[in-house]
Amino acid sequence: MFIRLSNEITRDSIVDGPGLRAVIWTQGCKHNCKGCHNPSTHDFNGGFLMNLHEIEETLKSLKLQKGITFSGGEPFEQPLACIEIAKMAKQLRLDIWCYTGYIFEKLIDEEDTEYKEGWKEFLEYIDVLIDGPFMIEKKNLLLRFRGSENQRIIDVKKSLKNNKVVLKEEYYPVKEARSEYVAVKLVV
Ligand code: SF4
Repeated sequence: MFIRLSNEITRDSIVDGPGLRAVIWTQGCKHNCKGCHNPSTHDFNGGFLMNLHEIEETLKSLKLQKGITFSGGEPFEQPLACIEIAKMAKQLRLDIWCYTGYIFEKLIDEEDTEYKEGWKEFLEYIDVLIDGPFMIEKKNLLLRFRGSENQRIIDVKKSLKNNKVVLKEEYYPVKEARSEYVAVKLVV
């Protein structure tokens, strides 16, 4: 099996999830977000094809990586190949993050007219999903691991279990806690 990639696998990324991460850059995306940082990844015939055996060898050679991150492009346009890569990653005890321009609710809706075979299964391998299109009017450079405020950092296992989105709260700024801290400082 092959996957279409836009770039070689990147190692040691510290911006695509926690710890050192290997990033799988998928090619092909139809979301067309205004202000997309990587328009060369949109063409479904662009990039290059890579055999999954080669990817497996690369994953096996990784050192000190906490996990892999699927980015793009749109990983959910190639769910069957991504599932195979995700299986390899799990066997190597790597955690899995994934960026998508789709929203979680759409990816689990098997009645959706755009539903693609494998979406749900691919999700089952993912630990954390950053969902939703990049929205330039909601761009915020202070956000951790995401580009715009509409995007959510989702605990996929808990969300699938509860059938509703559960956020990874630890990656969000804790406004309430911060204001409590200020209140305590003022009292002291
Ligand atoms: S989903 Fe990502 S790659 Fe696709 S258009 Fe939006 S920002 Fe660009």
